Amino acid sequence: MPATVIGGGISGVACANALVAAGVDVHLRDRGRRLGGRMASRTLRDTGTSYDGRAVDIGASYFTARDPSFIAQVKTWTAAGTVREWTDAFHVAGPSGIEAVRSGPMRYAAPRGLRTVVEDMVDPRVRVTSDDDVAALPDDADVIALCMPLPQARRLHAGIPESPIVWEPVIAVTCVFEERDWMEIDGVFVNDDPVLTWIADDGRRRGDDAPVLVAHVHPVLSAGHLADPSAVVPQAVAGVRRTLDIGAYPAWVDAHRWTYAKPLDAHEDPFWLSDDGRVGVAGDMWADGPRVEAAWLSGSALGAALAARMAGASPHSR
Ligand SMILES: Cc1cc2nc3c(=O)[nH]c(=O)nc-3n(C[C@H](O)[C@H](O)[C@H](O)COP(=O)(O)OP(=O)(O)OC[C@H]3O[C@@H](n4cnc5c(N)ncnc54)[C@H](O)[C@@H]3O)c2cc1C
Repeated sequence: MPATVIGGGISGVACANALVAAGVDVHLRDRGRRLGGRMASRTLRDTGTSYDGRAVDIGASYFTARDPSFIAQVKTWTAAGTVREWTDAFHVAGPSGIEAVRSGPMRYAAPRGLRTVVEDMVDPRVRVTSDDDVAALPDDADVIALCMPLPQARRLHAGIPESPIVWEPVIAVTCVFEERDWMEIDGVFVNDDPVLTWIADDGRRRGDDAPVLVAHVHPVLSAGHLADPSAVVPQAVAGVRRTLDIGAYPAWVDAHRWTYAKPLDAHEDPFWLSDDGRVGVAGDMWADGPRVEAAWLSGSALGAALAARMAGASPHSR
């Protein structure tokens, strides 16, 4: 294959799409069973509730759009029904419980789960291999795009320079209840709390009103439990019940670990490209991230630059 993209999150799919749009044959490889990366939705199974078979967003909570090209992309997704406007207001909680409602930009979600945004956007001309844990750069590709967190990319190519940008971990705890027993919220930022930072109402997010909440554990607490994420479940469930004043216990709970959940900052450059123009890195620590939008912009820009290189133009990373 002339071009190999490793990483099937939104940056990798955007990169692969930009390459095929320019007429380049692309092989997209990802180690997951399904594409999506951190825009991850898991399907509920064996919960003992009537919600088995339903998808829950356990990675990114939502996304926002401010760049004109991404706004245009989001409009296309919204028109197709892949994406929906969720809310522009979240609650804020402090030590004494819910304190305020704060407005912000429109947050977008996906009725079938955020993973489907990534899956649905793959250009049919892209050759995709899943369940493919790449251990070394392929020899047979003219250009290679590594679309993943930088620490993961550096394991594949030591020539990528280190970055001072720190990545924080998150443990996402999914709580499935028998019924809704909390005030009307879309999401709650939990401030000054050593256990939780955020609770999303997944039923409101997805639009089916299922009694499902997803809580994000504080990065410091998460960092101490990456080897055994389920150990934080009791504290997380207590935090959810306390914050939302819920009497019942969840019927089913699960914890998912994200070692590289979010970079704390991002480079302004849209991507990194090696001096010989053969290997590039894209993702949410570029393009002024760290957000879904930045990952899309970064992957799209890297794909266009690699295509230009293959067409004989001089590559540049800004
Ligand atoms: C808990 C959590 C909450 C978040 N909340 C938000 C939010 O509210 N709003 C927002 O905008 N963003 C949020 N984000 C960030 C958002 O998810 C990311 O910015 C975006 O999804 C990054 O996409 P990406 O393609 O750059 O990377 P990823 O989605 O991480 O994709 C990288 C892909 O590379 C693959 N991969 C890695 N190594 C290999 C290998 N060796 N071989 C094969 N495949 C490999 C992985 O399987 C993965 O699919 C959140 C993230 C997390 C984890």
